[in-house]
Parts: sequence; C-alpha cells; structure tokens
Amino acid sequence: MITGSQKPINEIIELIEPYKKVLILGCGTCVKTCFAGGEDEVAVLASALRLSFSKMARSIRIEEQTIERQCENEFIQESASGIVRNDAILSLACGAGVQAMAKRFEKEVVLPGINTTFIGIQEGPGVFTEECSGCGNCELGTFGGVCPVTRCSKKLLNGPCGGSQNGLCEIDPNTECAWHKIIERLSTLGQMDNLKTYIPPKNWNTSLSGGPRKLIREDHII
Ligand code: SF4
Ligand code: SF4
Repeated sequence: MITGSQKPINEIIELIEPYKKVLILGCGTCVKTCFAGGEDEVAVLASALRLSFSKMARSIRIEEQTIERQCENEFIQESASGIVRNDAILSLACGAGVQAMAKRFEKEVVLPGINTTFIGIQEGPGVFTEECSGCGNCELGTFGGVCPVTRCSKKLLNGPCGGSQNGLCEIDPNTECAWHKIIERLSTLGQMDNLKTYIPPKNWNTSLSGGPRKLIREDHII
C-alpha cells in the first residue's frame, strides 16, 4: 500500500484560503488504511476547517466526498458532479491520486491534502513500515523476501556493513538491520548459498533515477 499522512491544518488552510467552495475528496483505498484520507478523515478535516474558517469570520463552503480510488478513471468519474460545483478540490489521495484528478479535470484546481511517504505495510495498529522503493528490478528472491534496497540504510547488496548491533541498524538503532533479517531468513530457508554469488552494481535505470517510468500491459490495451 501507499502510505501518507495528512498535511498540518495550517498548511491546508493556506492552500484552500483563496477559494469559496472546496470539495474535500477522500480516497477509500491505501490512504484510508493508513488513516490519512478515507471517509472518516474527510469528515474530521471538514469539521476542523469549517470551525477554523468560522473563527476567522471567513465564509467558505466545504463539501465532502470519498471515492474508492482516485488513481482509477472508473472511480474518478463518480466525483465529476461534485467537482464542477466547487472552485477547488482538496484531494486526500496519494500523489498519484492527486495527479490523476488533475489529468482528468484539466480546468479544475486540485490541491494535495496529504504528504505521500512510501510503499509499505501495516505492521500493527497504527504502525506502517517502508518495504519497497519500486526499483523496477525485484531481487527479493535472492534475499529471502527482505529488501536491502529499501530496508538497509546503505542499500548494500553484498552483505552487511558490519556496524549492526543486536540486530539493529547502526544508522538508526530504532530500525532492524535489513542484513540481519536477510541472514536470519536465508538460514531458516536453507538458502544461505544465495549469498555466494556476487551481485554487481544495480542498474538504477529501472528505478526513478532513470526518469519517470511507465508500465504498459499490451494484453490489456484495447
Ligand atoms: S528489490 Fe526493488 S522492487 Fe523488490 S522490494 Fe526492493 S525496491 Fe521493491
Ligand atoms: S547496519 Fe545493517 S541495515 Fe544498517 S546500514 Fe549496516 S547493513 Fe545496512
């Protein structure tokens, strides 16, 4: 899932201040799961904004809506009538959702209400960890399902740096050493031989470093 957190309310107020009618548009998938942009967060934010603007003696009309996914045209269409009624959309989707809305509604102002952070998983209630950087060339099969590209602070591909203490990373002692986990996993799986082969420098062309990427599935193109 893509994780994010809501921008501070003062920043949101500054973003929407120039407009008289604003649609707060939630997204019911990833950002809902991380408590940043689902229906509940839309309702709480809308109330907080109404209160803030009324204290400032400013008149603003705030409308609320949440759609299933802002990154898919199929669902985006559901928001069309709400969008044309308003001067601006405050999107509580991830950066992809905000941009999908801006592409679909070229003449409308689309503002981001979320700071998008990473691709991760929910470890437990309210705890999310970064697991994948979308490098475009997945090596998890070699590393026992633990990603050193994302979870090793130094992105080491050929073994640990040697600074780990008690299974924790020397860069951030609140984070597990990815290589400690990799070795634990490979030992459990009986796949330690995976580490005998030298891994050459990674080709970062398939990552964002190679420029914006596109995924094309010819078999789904009509
Ligand atoms: S190797 Fe690349 S694609 Fe695979 S989990 Fe790590 S960053 Fe993501
Ligand atoms: S301690 Fe482990 S996770 Fe941290 S930089 Fe070294 S090898 Fe990577």
